[in-house]
Amino acid sequence: MALTKEALSALVALQSKDAILDARQKDVDAVPPKIAAVKSDLENEKKRMDAARAKTIDLEKKKKAKELDVAAKEDAARKHSTQLNELKSNDAYKAMQAEIEKEKAAAGDIETEILQLMEDIDKSRAEEKALAAELKKIEEFSKKDLEKLEADLSHAKGEHAAVKAERDASAALVPADVLRVYDHIRSRGKPDAVVPVVDGHCGACQINLAPILIAEVAKLKSLAVCESCQRILYKPEKPAPAAA
Ligand SMILES: [Zn+2]
Repeated sequence: MALTKEALSALVALQSKDAILDARQKDVDAVPPKIAAVKSDLENEKKRMDAARAKTIDLEKKKKAKELDVAAKEDAARKHSTQLNELKSNDAYKAMQAEIEKEKAAAGDIETEILQLMEDIDKSRAEEKALAAELKKIEEFSKKDLEKLEADLSHAKGEHAAVKAERDASAALVPADVLRVYDHIRSRGKPDAVVPVVDGHCGACQINLAPILIAEVAKLKSLAVCESCQRILYKPEKPAPAAA
């Protein structure tokens, strides 16, 4: 493919625009993970809050069940007490009395468990309250953080679009066949697809270039690539000699 000096300088200009575009793309890509992290922190805090609420509800259910147990034991003891006088034999009387004592003792044990549950419920409610306050704070911070991050993202996308437009304008000046080679090299993980020849070396991989290749680069006869790293080579403009 034939080359012109203009085509090659357009390619070098395109590469510098692409470098800026890559940086703007990084800016754009950096924001969504930050947004996700803020949302995930908030979600985790909500889950802690939900877990605390569920724990309180569970303890209250247990307490309710124990209260029903106590009532049942007390009912049984009362019922059995009224039946005592109807019993004819001494043995039956004693057996019933023992049964009543057992029921009363069981009710007492359950009452103790209820007291413990009430303590646990108080603790759980306090924890819930603390978490609710914490959640409220985190929600406020998160809202501000998310607003800022959304603004950052929108700004980064705007910058990216502006550079993209400039980049596309530069790309339009590069011949299609040259652009294809350039895009291909970049797609292989080499963003610096066009490199200068520096003192007979490839400007990227530093390998010594054959004099014949350097001559080809200088002549602009065709697209010359480094034999080692396959990047497109160009002869940089000689800096103007310093004024005497
Ligand atoms: Zn090279």
